[in-house]
Amino acid sequence: MLQIITIPTKSLRERSKEIDRNVLLLSETQAFIDDLIKTMYADDGIGIASPQVGNNIRLVVIGKQAFPKKLKVHTGTIDRTKDLVLVNPTWNRTSKKEEWDEEGCLSVPKIFGKVKRWRDITVEALDRSGQSIAFDATQFFARVIQHEYDHIEGILFIDKAKDLHTVDDLLAEERLRLVEAELKHTLQL
Ligand SMILES: [Zn+2]
Repeated sequence: MLQIITIPTKSLRERSKEIDRNVLLLSETQAFIDDLIKTMYADDGIGIASPQVGNNIRLVVIGKQAFPKKLKVHTGTIDRTKDLVLVNPTWNRTSKKEEWDEEGCLSVPKIFGKVKRWRDITVEALDRSGQSIAFDATQFFARVIQHEYDHIEGILFIDKAKDLHTVDDLLAEERLRLVEAELKHTLQL
């Protein structure tokens, strides 16, 4: 299992590096991907990005629970029984429609807020075996991809969120103060 990194950690704010296809195919990298997926499940995430475990490479995992009923795949294949690994992903919006919805993040524990995302996107990446994939994503599926993509750009959802709030517990105030400090720090960069 890997350790999830939380704010305030500087590496969460760094742009992650592209992954060479040969490096992707190394058994160490493949083992890392398996560990990353296990960590996502252990922490109840629906997605996870490599920088969240301190490895600043452009690799994200989208949990299969985020898949829509119908996947619109243009290139390659997506096995809907497996979590989707996106390597060096890029995306573009395919409509001007935006949607607000609640998000949270394993790296910002117990904080939630509403984030505006593009509703419809098209995504290109390599899968974990180094094959090119291209597919459409919409609504929740598109949201998870945009959230995870932001991580490899060093962006956190709290940078874009409104109505930030926390679950009601003893550490609630402390957690909000941590977020406020993080945002103040970001503005100074
Ligand atoms: Zn996140």
